[in-house]
Amino acid sequence: MKCSKTSTVPRCVSDGADTAQRREVSVFVRIRPTANFAHGLIECLPDGKLQDSKKGQLSSWSFRLEGVLQDVSQEEVYARVCQPVVQGALDGYNGTVMCFGQTGAGKTYTMTGSTESYKQRGIIPRALQEVFREVEKRTEHSISVHLSYLEIYNETLVDLLSPLQDSPQRPPRGMVVMEEPGRGVFIRDLSLHPVHSEEAALSLLFEGEMNRIIGSHAMNRNSSRSHCIFTLHIESRSQILSDAKYIASKLNLVDLAGSERLGKTGSEGQILKEATYINKSLSFLEQAILALADHRRDHVPFRQTKLTHALKDSLGGNCNTVLVANVYGEAAHIEETLSTLRFASRMKCVRSDPAVNEHIDPALQIRKLQKEVQMLKEELSIHNTLVNRPSTTYEPLSEAQQAEISSQVQRYLDGSLKEISITSIRQVHAVFAQFKLFDLNYDTLMPSFSQNKRQGDGSPVSRKRVESASKSKLTSVQMPEREQECLLSVSRPPPSKSEVFEDFKLGQGNKINCILKENKAVLLERRSLLRQLTDEVNTVKREIDCTTAVIQQHNEIQETQGQYLLMEGEPEATLLLQLRELKALYRQRYEALRSIKAEVNYCQHLVDQCRVRLLSEFESWYKNTFLLPEDEVEITLDSTIAHVSLDNIIMLLSSAESFYNARCRTLKRVCVFFLNCTSVFILFHLDIDG
Ligand code: ADP
Ligand code: MG
Repeated sequence: MKCSKTSTVPRCVSDGADTAQRREVSVFVRIRPTANFAHGLIECLPDGKLQDSKKGQLSSWSFRLEGVLQDVSQEEVYARVCQPVVQGALDGYNGTVMCFGQTGAGKTYTMTGSTESYKQRGIIPRALQEVFREVEKRTEHSISVHLSYLEIYNETLVDLLSPLQDSPQRPPRGMVVMEEPGRGVFIRDLSLHPVHSEEAALSLLFEGEMNRIIGSHAMNRNSSRSHCIFTLHIESRSQILSDAKYIASKLNLVDLAGSERLGKTGSEGQILKEATYINKSLSFLEQAILALADHRRDHVPFRQTKLTHALKDSLGGNCNTVLVANVYGEAAHIEETLSTLRFASRMKCVRSDPAVNEHIDPALQIRKLQKEVQMLKEELSIHNTLVNRPSTTYEPLSEAQQAEISSQVQRYLDGSLKEISITSIRQVHAVFAQFKLFDLNYDTLMPSFSQNKRQGDGSPVSRKRVESASKSKLTSVQMPEREQECLLSVSRPPPSKSEVFEDFKLGQGNKINCILKENKAVLLERRSLLRQLTDEVNTVKREIDCTTAVIQQHNEIQETQGQYLLMEGEPEATLLLQLRELKALYRQRYEALRSIKAEVNYCQHLVDQCRVRLLSEFESWYKNTFLLPEDEVEITLDSTIAHVSLDNIIMLLSSAESFYNARCRTLKRVCVFFLNCTSVFILFHLDIDG
């Protein structure tokens, strides 16, 4: 994607620096041409430094900026200040170019330029030209451009391109600066105009300029008393990748109101009001900039004024920001010039961290994922065909299928169904869900037991007494043999692992043990084949060496005798033919050897895997069968004793034991089911790969 190329990362922000690095906001100073430049006060150095000509004095000053634009053409200003930001915006980076300075210093001239002279056109028309040229060039992308033009006058938002101004159908709700996650800052109800050509875009710009002038005349105010934000909203989608991803960026071109101090204007009435608003918004802009430049501050007061709120995601942050400080060169304006330069140097301390604004189109993403799911289903059905599995459906289970699974689980748990055969992952999930349901139902049916079991904080009555009492009583009552056995096993020490491992291999671990045995057999068979092939390869190699030696001998004899001589019974042509055949045989055998070697390694891996599985399953079986019950019984007994008499205890104990045994059986059956599942998965795996 173009946006990820470092070469297109805006030059102004960092010359070739890494995109991931934070960098300074770029700041330029542009001096309005004058015949009376204050050489005695201001000295411009070629490296972007402006300093006091009489430096060394107490009040001396100096500012180092990105560049000083003095007697520089509009074309060069655009190239140095704006072009890299425009390129960045086309690559998905937000960008802001902002002109700041006192009235008449050349902000509007820099931003819009002269509307009469093509040569003196400013940054906005040049940016529009470049954007549409790039749209033509970047044929791999479909790029859409929308324009908006916002004016902020005395904290009122004005849409300079509003098509609704005389539309009675939709009364204006009033524009508001808003923020939404994923969308950032935007102006509700500010009109956005799609444009497809430079000409259409310029028409809109001129219309906006006209509206600005008309508006200021109608309201009897000076057009430079307002802030203007011309925004290009750019969206770029790849034409090649049918991707849900797209990049979107905003390029804000900002012409700020004059920054002169209130006191100096000495004004009153409306002009005073305007000046107050401007001063307020610019000083909040300055505060926001100071906060942005201060790493220790995590709050930046953006919402104080409409201007700072509207520019919230366009100053520093992930945005390429450039400031042009417009100043007069005459001595009479030195105070305002220094004030502008101070603002500029503060702006320079703001760090930005430009990042591409990548978005995902949800509708496209859904379509893409649906396609992917379809493809995977097809892939799975191919796999099934290859391993001769009955055709499996990957659709969600129907109600009838769910009901069937529920009945299977019921029958499985009460013992009337020996096993549940696995047909699909969905079915396995449904079976698990049924087991869970069964478990929950059991808990609801037997609340006292469940509670006791969960609390496990019974009174500290001697466990031994209860154990012996329960044993003597329980063994005397008629209990099924299996239950007695289970109960007795609670008090007996567990058997050693080696004792029961063989039993486990024949019972619960039978399946995995069989798989292990089969794998071992295959491994042995493959190993013997490997040995056989190794021998064959070695034999052929020896024959090749022999034949080569004989041919060499022939050649030597020929060389020494200087004539063509054939050795008796072994014509040379036959030897060469034989050598060729041997080499072909060698290659063939060698290939077979290589593939058998790979198979041996793979079988070895499977055997190891099965061994680990067998042992881990044995461990958990051992724990469940011989160790777990003791704890459970203990808890149950202890927690119940505090509230009942001994007879009751014994009765309770026997019913608790039955409950426990039933539960124990259920758990075991669930375990067996899980084991079956894992075994089937292993078998399935073997089928595919073996
Ligand atoms: P601002 O917007 O800062 O109030 P303007 O851009 O309107 O100031 O400039 C005031 C006047 O100065 C305009 O007539 C403009 O043409 C002229 N001017 C400003 N800067 C330059 C420049 N660099 N070259 C030529 N004329 C300029
Ligand atoms: Mg202006």
